Amino acid sequence: MKFTTPEFIDEHPIAEGFIKKYGKNMGKMVYECNVRIYWRTVRAREQNMTCLLCSGEMTFERGHKNSVSLEHLIPKSLGGESEPHNYGASCERCNNKRGSESIESFVKKRLTTA
Ligand SMILES: [Zn+2]
Repeated sequence: MKFTTPEFIDEHPIAEGFIKKYGKNMGKMVYECNVRIYWRTVRAREQNMTCLLCSGEMTFERGHKNSVSLEHLIPKSLGGESEPHNYGASCERCNNKRGSESIESFVKKRLTTA
């Protein structure tokens, strides 16, 4: 089964609806995906559609280098949690480039090599 995910979500998703619609496992997966889109939406708007890492303008449209993506402020590999307090929004390009680097290190490197 293929899902098309919305570009942004304005209200926090509720798990029950997805589980009812897609069953327990798939429903949970779709729900979690929607939660990530919700937080991506919230953080991007809080940041005025500006990337956390390069300060470039982001878009909700998918498939661009500057498409909004959900960023872990502290990378998961460094013990950062997948919780709202650890979420920010960055552009797709920065998110892909950063990997598991800390924000400080990534931004510093960007400033010295730019
Ligand atoms: Zn960026």
